[in-house]
Amino acid sequence: MDGEFCRINCEEKRKERRINLLAYAAVNVFETLLRVVPFPCRTGVIKIGAPDKSSPVFLTGNYHLTVVRVSRALRDIDCYLLVANSRGYNVWCGAAGGHFTDHDVISVLKTSGVESLVTHRDVVLPQLAATGVEAGVIRKKAGWRVIWGPVYARDIPVFITSGFEKTAATRQVDFALGQRVEMACMWAFPFSVIAALATALFWLRIVLPLTVLIWALSSLVFLSFPLYSSWLRPGKGGTAFSKYTVVFDFSRVLIILWSVFILGLIIFYLFADGLGRWSIFRWGLVSFIIVLLLSIDLKGSTPVYKSGLHADIFLTVFLDKERCRGAGFCEQVCPRNCYRVARAKHTATLVGSRRCVQCGACIVQCPFDALYFTGPRGEILSPATIRKFKLNLLGERVAGVGRNSPRRRR
Ligand code: SF4
Ligand code: SF4
Repeated sequence: MDGEFCRINCEEKRKERRINLLAYAAVNVFETLLRVVPFPCRTGVIKIGAPDKSSPVFLTGNYHLTVVRVSRALRDIDCYLLVANSRGYNVWCGAAGGHFTDHDVISVLKTSGVESLVTHRDVVLPQLAATGVEAGVIRKKAGWRVIWGPVYARDIPVFITSGFEKTAATRQVDFALGQRVEMACMWAFPFSVIAALATALFWLRIVLPLTVLIWALSSLVFLSFPLYSSWLRPGKGGTAFSKYTVVFDFSRVLIILWSVFILGLIIFYLFADGLGRWSIFRWGLVSFIIVLLLSIDLKGSTPVYKSGLHADIFLTVFLDKERCRGAGFCEQVCPRNCYRVARAKHTATLVGSRRCVQCGACIVQCPFDALYFTGPRGEILSPATIRKFKLNLLGERVAGVGRNSPRRRR
């Protein structure tokens, strides 16, 4: 009888796991296709497993897909997961853009009730929040010590078993195949839907071939990224107009090629008498959609380059050795492993400044203001500026982005 009960119980658990896995896969596919839009979910505390007063506390932003992925990574650990308000943005975009701030972290620590659930005051934050959340402020204002967790949720179990220590690999952002597939889908889906709606009215027969072409081009651009990434230089490649198109970095080469194509169509219409005005309009529209797709801000779509549309791309991080005390926060939060810290000698060295993506996390977290950015003409962006002014979509540092406070530009 016991054996029979056990068999039924095990089968039910397997069935539940299969359903959970299917639901997880469905959420991942759906929200990846719609990743260009924020997906906010409820803030507060989530109990995972059977946590007690000494269980670890993790914190993330309220982008639904992130919460789903972090919860899954933590499913075998008894812990608390705090969901702070990042306005539905993922942690990195939210923190860099001023949508996920000290205030949001302090607010969930103080209002979720977690302080009565645990006796310790350590909270693990995602490393990529370090551009917008300052560990020193959380300690001072909320009394909680911030431990910077790994970049990817999948590394959390290893991070816990290694005593909340990270390795160079778990600190580093990459642009692995899975992420490149996600990016290809993220751009291809909205593009193909908008293109289908725009062309269906004029040219129904082109909708299917155009949709296939958009998915194929988007996949080609992102999947072949490692083959051409070394040619992507930090210099600006777009036109002056690119600054105002937010996600489209129109290159001169593409504009010239498109103009030549349109000119060819017009010449064909005028002299070869083989093309009507209507055909010129339809081919013009389809070719413009292709130009738009190929003009996506590719650097900004990767986590390994700063957006090609942001002036920050020209900044260089500077380490003032006189001020450095070797505390190592820079090493803990740098997503490109640019630092090596010698704790015995209390010194840090910038060993990989060429890899820097100008995220500013090291500058925000350095308690001795030993780090700052310098511009191409030698101008200095102080740590106070980096902490206070966050990047808006146009790549301008603006106070109070994502809030109702008055905006000021730098
Ligand atoms: S640069 Fe700042 S954060 Fe890095 S080791 Fe030196 S004092 Fe610490
Ligand atoms: S060195 Fe560059 S990439 Fe690393 S944390 Fe600092 S600004 Fe970011």
